[in-house]
Amino acid sequence: MKTPSFADIASRYRISNGTRFRLADIEPADPWGVSLKGTAEDLLSDGVKRLADLQERLYAQDRWSVLLIFQAMDAAGKDGTIKHVMSGINPLGCEVHAFKAPSSEELDHDFLWRTSRVLPRRGHIGIFNRSYYEETLVVRVHQNILARQQLPPALVTKNIWRERFEDINAHERYLARQGIVIRKFFLHVSKEEQRRRFLKRLEESDKHWKFSLADVGERAHFVEYMQAYEDTIRHTSTEWAPWHVIPADRKWFTRIAVAATIVDTIETLHPRFPSADPKVKAELTKVKAALEAEVKAGAAKAKGRAK
Ligand code: ATP
Ligand code: MG
Repeated sequence: MKTPSFADIASRYRISNGTRFRLADIEPADPWGVSLKGTAEDLLSDGVKRLADLQERLYAQDRWSVLLIFQAMDAAGKDGTIKHVMSGINPLGCEVHAFKAPSSEELDHDFLWRTSRVLPRRGHIGIFNRSYYEETLVVRVHQNILARQQLPPALVTKNIWRERFEDINAHERYLARQGIVIRKFFLHVSKEEQRRRFLKRLEESDKHWKFSLADVGERAHFVEYMQAYEDTIRHTSTEWAPWHVIPADRKWFTRIAVAATIVDTIETLHPRFPSADPKVKAELTKVKAALEAEVKAGAAKAKGRAK
């Protein structure tokens, strides 16, 4: 097979219009992706390099920002993907935020509060490791969490999930209009592959720290989570903030597909180093001449001393 372009890889898993989306349409071990194994190393290193260059331009240009949201079941590879894909990036222009079960202070606010405070500034890339999407995932699967959210009872109706989708879409539309380019990744791992990865964590002592008993509890709700993911993706895949459903049974492929999507996204912004205005340019030419003259003067002095 001809090596696909990053745009091909990105578009294969992009859900820009969710109405007809079915999770079953995307296999966690997509054979098309698996067939790229031979070129995997080159594709990933190319992606990491291109991303580093694009990020530098994005940062220098200081106009657009990029928000990357990662959602997945445990052991789907969120942390490893973020680490590998962003490995060439200048940390000055990139922040990663992980969102766990909310604190009591966070529960005392609207659900977009905690993420809104840490949105990426212009020129930056912000990464959310979990996000406000937990509000239509874990909170929907475990509705007792909703009861702890201190909402006025009159506002908790059977429409609550539809309302949350509407609010999230409106929020993302607003951010998009502010120059924040949003891409959302669901790393789609199968239940069987999750089982293998959990077992591996239990078998290797230096991986025990990654294992939590709570993860096994969530695994028991795998099917409900898949339904919640499908419904969320159907309702919140928009032109301005599409979901990318990434096959996650092969870690090496997940990384390539995510890197390709981010590169493709930032390339469409054509970030460029700002060019200095003519006055500044003239000043820079003078400074350059002065710096060069310093060396010449230094050399002449040294010659004089040597005589
Ligand atoms: P890792 O296990 O790789 O360290 P993680 O993202 O799974 O990373 P954990 O501390 O294991 O981190 O889990 C965070 C938990 O917090 C998840 O079970 C998630 O569903 C839960 N959580 C996140 N946001 C919310 C929320 N708004 N309401 C309730 N639970 C939430
Ligand atoms: Mg976890």
